Amino acid sequence: MKIAFFGAEGKVGRALVPVLERAGHEVRGIEIGEKPDVVGLDAAVDFTTPDAAPANVRAALDQGVSCVVGTTGWDAQSLHEYARERGLRLFVAPNFSLGAVLMMRFAEQAAQYFPRAEIIELHSEAKKDAPSGTARATADLIGSGTNIHSVRLPGLVAHQEVIFGGEGQLLTIRHDTTARESFADGVLLALEKLPELPPGLSVGLDTLL
Ligand code: NAP
Repeated sequence: MKIAFFGAEGKVGRALVPVLERAGHEVRGIEIGEKPDVVGLDAAVDFTTPDAAPANVRAALDQGVSCVVGTTGWDAQSLHEYARERGLRLFVAPNFSLGAVLMMRFAEQAAQYFPRAEIIELHSEAKKDAPSGTARATADLIGSGTNIHSVRLPGLVAHQEVIFGGEGQLLTIRHDTTARESFADGVLLALEKLPELPPGLSVGLDTLL
């Protein structure tokens, strides 16, 4: 596919663009201040900032191009109608790591059989918010009252453990993100499935699995 990548020079962009290219996609990086010219491309990917993403997505949709967005902290629902009216797709995922999404799915299954669970999420000291969005989403899937413990230390990237306790047994489900390339599989999957999605907004990798 021919793809525009908003934020190609960012931390995620620098990790993902080579992986997308190795997978056979042709990538046009679009940086801040550049004209968002995406005419004739098959899709636009955005990993920028909550301030930039809505305008980038709107510009792509205006040019007839569907979008895959990883930028967090903005209201994608506000562009649902805008995309739907144009017969285009807007796919947004708060976590593009397939392993993390599977960890959440397995935790939801285990919760049916264990009375108690607690979550430990561990991230680099640069991450300011706590608990993480993934930990909160996991707690929602498991059920109310699940404690979340947040660790912020140098040396960590992004990790989560869900520990289930039962009579005489423990079950631990753990996912470790060791590099930003972990988001590539999810972005590739979203690009592949994009034409099959209904026009308008779709949220979460889980809907593609
Ligand atoms: P980052 O290193 O700050 O990269 C953002 C990039 O976007 C920078 O190169 C920035 O350029 C550029 N940019 C800003 N405004 C732009 C515009 N209008 N048009 C084009 N490019 C623009 O951030 P990051 O760590 O890569 O993360 C990017 C976003 O992805 C964040 O919202 C983060 O939370 C999110 N994220 C999501 C996932 C997921 O799985 N969904 C995973 C990781 C990160 P300048 O540096 O010149 O300002």
